[in-house]
Amino acid sequence: MLKSKRHAEEISKSYSVPLEDVMLIALNACGIRSDKYSNRVRFQLFFVNSKDKECYFSAMFCNSTSNFTLSENKLYLGSDYIADADNIEIDTCSNSYFRNGGKVLTINTNPGKRCRGCAFCSTYSLSRSDKELNYDIQSARYFCEQLLKQLKIESYSNIERAALCTGCFGHEDILVENLLSLHDSLKLFGFNGSFVYIGSELTSYGAIEYLSKAINNFEMYITLETFTNRDNLLHEEKKKLSLDKAEDIMKFSRTCGVKNNIVTVIGLESHENYIHGIKRFQYVIDRFPIINILQPYSKSMESLRHSEAINISYYLEIRKELEMIFKNHRHRPHPWECYRSLWYTEYNGAKIYEIKI
Ligand code: SF4
Repeated sequence: MLKSKRHAEEISKSYSVPLEDVMLIALNACGIRSDKYSNRVRFQLFFVNSKDKECYFSAMFCNSTSNFTLSENKLYLGSDYIADADNIEIDTCSNSYFRNGGKVLTINTNPGKRCRGCAFCSTYSLSRSDKELNYDIQSARYFCEQLLKQLKIESYSNIERAALCTGCFGHEDILVENLLSLHDSLKLFGFNGSFVYIGSELTSYGAIEYLSKAINNFEMYITLETFTNRDNLLHEEKKKLSLDKAEDIMKFSRTCGVKNNIVTVIGLESHENYIHGIKRFQYVIDRFPIINILQPYSKSMESLRHSEAINISYYLEIRKELEMIFKNHRHRPHPWECYRSLWYTEYNGAKIYEIKI
């Protein structure tokens, strides 16, 4: 995809996309080669010779054929030393983590271990760094209490957004119980921000209406993942949610005051189909879509990558087209919200000044 830093510079110039963005897109699509790590690894990254000493977060798959190499604490593109890596560790599945400089809390109560089947996902193969969580109110309260102690803070009053982002539960009623118990427990300890469900199991109008009344500022990010080949790529339960149904749910949830978004994986389908899908959903979303670059965990998953997505031009052309599509919307991508997106330092020609992790 990229041969050298010079190659990246040429691409950056011809597409008028900052060099950092070009390299991060390619890094996320290609993964890293490493003698030390073999599965997944995460680290903080600082580009050398970069004007701003910005810190980026990378959660990365290992790929012996990648042109990016992580050696000790240095990242190379071909033989060019391009960045320093800090806090390198094996990527694990955590119950909770923060984004946006600690203002956004993500909770993962139902890890991939209990959810499997989407062809492009292997989160269940990650080892867990935390204990399993339960869904009931007592467990949620205990979890929220322990997290406060761990963070050495007195309340969640400074958290602007909490999100449940987790694997499928198998039953909508378990999900609803989990959402309510987590929200109520956070609230008990001072939380007053927006509460987001990221997933695809909240589908009945009754449940959406109920949650919209029970939770202040409730938002729903539907994990559509892909617009095409859904029957082959998604697991049995997830594929039951058709694109038509997802669109109807989003229209309905708006009538209840719930804000919507979609989460997609980029690299599984052609440029044309991907753009067609985004255009279709642009009118029912209230945020900039979350766009995750496909990260194949294995050689067999690599075969899921669409032939067009082997080239850096696929990502950069889609990036440009999305900037055009959303030109008249208020939505903007937030780098801290997605660590493997198409935007890091610049959006539509304007510098992104937000924190990146
Ligand atoms: S729903 Fe699919 S993508 Fe999400 S955790 Fe389960 S298997 Fe993975």
